[in-house]
Amino acid sequence: MTLDPATLNVAFVLLALVLGGLLVFAWTVNRNVRALLSWGAAFCLVATGFAVANLGRSSGSYSALLIGNVFGLLSYVALYAGCRIFNGRKGVPLVALTGVVLWSAAFPFIYERQDYRLILVALTTGVYSLLSAWELWRYAGQPLASQRFAVVLLVLLAVFNTVRIWPAVSSTSISWFDALAHRWSSEMALFLVVFTPSLAFIFLSMAKESVELGYKLAALVDPLTGIPNRRAFMQNAGELTASMHGKPVSCLVLDLDNFKSINDRYGHDVGDAVLTLFGQVLSRHLPPKSFGRLGGEEFAAILPMNMECAAALGEAVRDEFSRAGKAVLGAGAEVTVSVGCSASSDATVEMLLHEADIALYRAKDRGRNIVVSSAGSRVSA
Ligand code: GH3
Ligand code: MG
Ligand code: MG
Repeated sequence: MTLDPATLNVAFVLLALVLGGLLVFAWTVNRNVRALLSWGAAFCLVATGFAVANLGRSSGSYSALLIGNVFGLLSYVALYAGCRIFNGRKGVPLVALTGVVLWSAAFPFIYERQDYRLILVALTTGVYSLLSAWELWRYAGQPLASQRFAVVLLVLLAVFNTVRIWPAVSSTSISWFDALAHRWSSEMALFLVVFTPSLAFIFLSMAKESVELGYKLAALVDPLTGIPNRRAFMQNAGELTASMHGKPVSCLVLDLDNFKSINDRYGHDVGDAVLTLFGQVLSRHLPPKSFGRLGGEEFAAILPMNMECAAALGEAVRDEFSRAGKAVLGAGAEVTVSVGCSASSDATVEMLLHEADIALYRAKDRGRNIVVSSAGSRVSA
């Protein structure tokens, strides 16, 4: 089978344009993933660069070769920018344009030397590909399988780009390898036709996975306080109790005192701020994933420790909250929490919550702003 390089090059230009358009379209239906726009631009830029350089090749035009390559290099800048944007990192440093500036400055001196041009382009695109891979690997904001695969593809691209230097400086006896030094060879065009859709697919897949993960996390987080909601708490608590194998597990149920009157006196917005403040106090004192908002002004925690230690943590939360509340609402404000505590080495989460709830009612009966254990003892005042 003979592959015609010119046809393959036209196919690549059209393919990259279509893929770029699809990535931009994917961005229009999901504007939160702004990286898609940058990656779409990268595909369109590489298509334009190839088309312009193609024209320049037939006419031998100096400016077409210069502009075509500048577009090609800008596509790598857009690729890198997309990776940064995807990771939620701000802007692209100006230094990222170094490769483009370097090429434009060097071009008048290396215009006549195809081998020098290839070495410079191969090195620059190799560095850009590696930078993009490093960005996705090092600064990944979410654990996405497709993002790890994208790293592999980008490292492959970096290797492919830099390996082309070798046949450019000394030809080997392997004809297909030597062909990689020529942009217009069918081997080179075939690689691009196979590689480009793979990269576009993986970028779309990253966007899809990230949106899905976002929804999944949102379903487990309480939107007001930012701490785990009831569903997440029950899930985490179930996992913890299942892993304890007979060791003591404790449960705290924490209910803000006279919260209705705080709402009535200061307004609902201030009530919301107090709930958020309580979420922060919990986050400071308790291990991550051990607590959550059950609903309204009621919170719970499940802890891998005995009743004494858990009640001490409950007491630390109670103490800090009463002081933090005064700092927010004024010294005269009574912003307090009552805590019920239970413990067992073989009970289910539901049983522990029930026991802690009974202890909480006792705390309310005894005047609020205290920690009471399910054994009936008052831990604090
Ligand atoms: P107690 O000390 O006995 O627990 O009294 P309380 O007033 O805290 O309990 P009650 O159950 O009577 O009232 C709870 C209040 O919490 C009523 C409700 O309006 C308020 N609340 C529930 N969810 C929210 C919320 O998301 N934001 C605000 N601001 N208030 C809320
Ligand atoms: Mg209450
Ligand atoms: Mg309540």
